[in-house]
Amino acid sequence: MHHMTLAEIARGLAEKKFSSEELTQVLLARIAQLDPKINSFITLTEDLATAQARAADARRAAGESGALLGVPLAHKDLFCTQGIRTSCGSKMLDNFKAPYDATVVAKLAAAGTVTLGKTNMDEFAMGSANESSYYGAVKNPWNLEHVPGGSSGGSAAAVAARLLPAATGTDTGGSIRQPAALTNLTGLKPTYGRVSRWGMIAYASSLDQAGPMARTAEDCALLLQGMAGFDPQDSTSIDEPVPDYSASLNGSLQGLRIGIPKEYFGAGLDPRIAELVLESVKELEKLGAVVKEVSLPNLQHAIPAYYVIAPAEASSNLSRFDGVRFGHRCEDPKNLEDLYKRSRAEGFGPEVQRRILVGAYALSAGYYDAYYLQAQKIRRLIKNDFMSAFAEVDVILGPTTPNPAWKIGAKNDDPISAYLEDFYTITANLAGLPGLSMPAGFVDGLPVGVQLLAPYFQEGRLLNVAHQYQSVTDWHTRTPSGF
Ligand code: GLN
Repeated sequence: MHHMTLAEIARGLAEKKFSSEELTQVLLARIAQLDPKINSFITLTEDLATAQARAADARRAAGESGALLGVPLAHKDLFCTQGIRTSCGSKMLDNFKAPYDATVVAKLAAAGTVTLGKTNMDEFAMGSANESSYYGAVKNPWNLEHVPGGSSGGSAAAVAARLLPAATGTDTGGSIRQPAALTNLTGLKPTYGRVSRWGMIAYASSLDQAGPMARTAEDCALLLQGMAGFDPQDSTSIDEPVPDYSASLNGSLQGLRIGIPKEYFGAGLDPRIAELVLESVKELEKLGAVVKEVSLPNLQHAIPAYYVIAPAEASSNLSRFDGVRFGHRCEDPKNLEDLYKRSRAEGFGPEVQRRILVGAYALSAGYYDAYYLQAQKIRRLIKNDFMSAFAEVDVILGPTTPNPAWKIGAKNDDPISAYLEDFYTITANLAGLPGLSMPAGFVDGLPVGVQLLAPYFQEGRLLNVAHQYQSVTDWHTRTPSGF
């Protein structure tokens, strides 16, 4: 049962081959047996899951249908879930039970999904390896000595290990696409504003976006359908109709113009990944696509700009965690200042503290013009580069990551080398564009992803291209041994 994709589960439930409750119990048992190997969950919600599964079965028995009705999934532990611990991977929020559901959680629950639990993540979504979680590192099911990517590493590892068919993630600089690539999943970061951020604990508000992580593009289409849409509670949510993402999956790729940025194939890229990327292009050409070289001249400035903007916003967003209103409070504070200092020093891990320091520095008087303002200008130039490229092509294709998953601990003493892993993903966040990563082969037994980027609100095009690719390749069907 655990090998079924979300679409197969939806069909099985519709045909009454099994009930949501039966499936939920199978998956909960599988999580209990296998999750200790990979540490992909922070909290399990067995009682809630059983109640939601029974309710979904009752709705079906009463004649309701819907692709997500009765489908089990899990949420990254930065989506607020009412009455359930929402830790954001941090000691700071270890004792925080959210008083309300995030819009994404509420929308998916209304569609009838069953929440199995909350998945592990890098602390406050800062990281590319899922090593910074207060609840311990997540392991990659493809090789337990390697990282699964981050920050949505728990969602990625759980889906890759077939503990559940799909999960939610969030992507500020790559945290859906990069762990999807490193664990052989399909992951989609929507256009900024497509999915509500209400009830998502903020990392960098102008970059954060929630999206689906699953094994196939078809499944991502089903899940995105349940997540997307206008939300008056999020002032950056966009009031645009949500298209039927499943309906466009089978569109022909005849004449599709694929752009390949010449700046993508530089020295930092593992040549074996470059080869797999070019093979994926050949497959798409066989389906009728045409390839064109494009240029993103400001690409080299993206990482420096991101690592000013994201920490700047984080330093502001995380100022609310002060030991007074939410979360961890130190023992026996001597006075208010001591309370703030010790609560924050004890509650935040080293990577979060590093980001807060960098962000506060970049925003401080005298440095604002030199760093933050410059970074914002680069952000506009990067957006302009994409606009010029998309005048000529329909999608941009390249690697999702420069390297396959590294060994746990390998980059611990060198945060900059981890930041460089975001080279291909962060431009989409800086420009607000949608991006998708899909499985495209293996290097040393570890999965490799290909990234597709599209113009604003063209999530349907990304899913269409990925689905067509997945109908002629079988990388996405490969399962890690032992799971
Ligand atoms: N690795 C990037 C960072 O640490 C992106 C993380 C994310 O997308 N949440 O900021």
